Amino acid sequence: MSCDCGGAGGCQGGGAPNGTAAPTSTTTPGGVAASTPLEATMATAGQATMEMAPPTMDHSAFDVFNPPDPGLIADCVHCGFCLPACPTYQLWGNEEDSPRGRIYLMEKGLEDGPMSASMVEHFDACLGCMACVSACPSGVQYDKLIEATRGQVERNGKQHRSRAEVALREAIFQLFPYPERLKTMLAPLKAYQRSGLSALVRKSKILEKLSPTLATMEAIAPPVSKKVSIPESNPPRSAQGQTLPVRARVGMLLGCVQRTFYPQVNAATVRVLNMEGCEVVAPQSQGCCGALSVHAGRSEEGEDFARRIVDTFTASEVDYLVVNSAGCGSTMKEYADILAGDPAYAARAKDLAGKVRDVTEILVELGPSAPRHPVTDGGLRVAYHDACHLSHAQGVRNPPRELLGQIPGIELAPIKDADTCCGSAGIYNLVRPEAARELGDKKATNIAATKAGLVVTGNPGCLLQVTDALRRQGEATLPTAHTIELLDASLTGAGAGDLLAR
Ligand code: SF4
Ligand code: SF4
Repeated sequence: MSCDCGGAGGCQGGGAPNGTAAPTSTTTPGGVAASTPLEATMATAGQATMEMAPPTMDHSAFDVFNPPDPGLIADCVHCGFCLPACPTYQLWGNEEDSPRGRIYLMEKGLEDGPMSASMVEHFDACLGCMACVSACPSGVQYDKLIEATRGQVERNGKQHRSRAEVALREAIFQLFPYPERLKTMLAPLKAYQRSGLSALVRKSKILEKLSPTLATMEAIAPPVSKKVSIPESNPPRSAQGQTLPVRARVGMLLGCVQRTFYPQVNAATVRVLNMEGCEVVAPQSQGCCGALSVHAGRSEEGEDFARRIVDTFTASEVDYLVVNSAGCGSTMKEYADILAGDPAYAARAKDLAGKVRDVTEILVELGPSAPRHPVTDGGLRVAYHDACHLSHAQGVRNPPRELLGQIPGIELAPIKDADTCCGSAGIYNLVRPEAARELGDKKATNIAATKAGLVVTGNPGCLLQVTDALRRQGEATLPTAHTIELLDASLTGAGAGDLLAR
């Protein structure tokens, strides 16, 4: 792979600089190996959706609409402290696949156009996990930089992606932000899972030979759950059904993946909030929060989704807006920035963003009022997996641990390299399946080493990814759950039997 970084910060032409993590794999972050008939069909569809880009700046790889901010780029002092924290640098050891190298490519792109294939490759290979933001002692806002850059790649660099990848991305964005479309997959998926074909397909590894993306989609699809309906209004009540005084009126984001594949997580979230004295409002009219689109640089689409959420929850007059999906929460907390340029929405977006809380944050803020019960007879060792968009992007690390610590008999088992992404990262495990798989395997090894009896996390994408990775590692008997499900098992007194039997 050629090096575009010009030796930034000690780059040694693609090798690992001294004192930083050595590469553990020879896998490169190249394009998606996908040329199946299905993907060829998607390629045709994708071509039809290419957008017109605004004019580029003179001699720049970027257009005039929101290029990466030179002031934010200048904050980087090239110290390299972020390199060992970066999962793609851990994998490949290339400077351009580190935060510092990508920031250098952004700087270069401001003055030197057009956008090259190499730039697109290294920006696309970034997980957006924000481990570099946590690691950077200079406070570099890489999150803002990569978000602006991804929009530039969408408008000015798509020609460097394979036709199959362009189509795959388009197909993902025509499906995942639309729960009604996602739901149409459930019946065929259920039939497929019940037929026993799934075990045969996985054993034959035929999908891996045809397309790593299809293999990943097949592998991460969870067993189809029983349908759960969440009423629009859910007054507070105890585990025994007694009416409780209202401590807070909270809106609840149902999520696209969450409501489709993990409806039981939403049901548990409502129950726990109700038992803790919250009136829960879950408007059925709500759509996607826009997180997938925003994180992928599809800014206009993300803004449209954000406007709809702002309309929905402003009308609901809630004290807080509770989210049980880390990726969604991190984007919704940024609504003030996302809609800052829209005078009709800016003030309401800012107001709503200030009310957004991860479900674990609001429960800790309110303080426990419902009694906690043991979830097993003999105690339970639990490994808590930090979702990157909860820990790095939102800084929410202690609330989930504090809540788990309130459950009698729970022992928290620390996971080695807890700050490193599991490889889920929004759509990353679909568009970069090989890299995502390597990160998933590392995470599964570290989780298995905890000897925990249950793994919990606060993001549906991580649940899908970690569950699949554990199965690949021969740890299929180690169950996974959302953090709120375990808390629900304690507050209701139902115990963790169902979770442990997964
Ligand atoms: S992003 Fe931060 S940690 Fe990384 S090289 Fe720049 S200043 Fe150093
Ligand atoms: S967001 Fe994650 S993958 Fe991207 S540069 Fe930062 S640490 Fe590396």
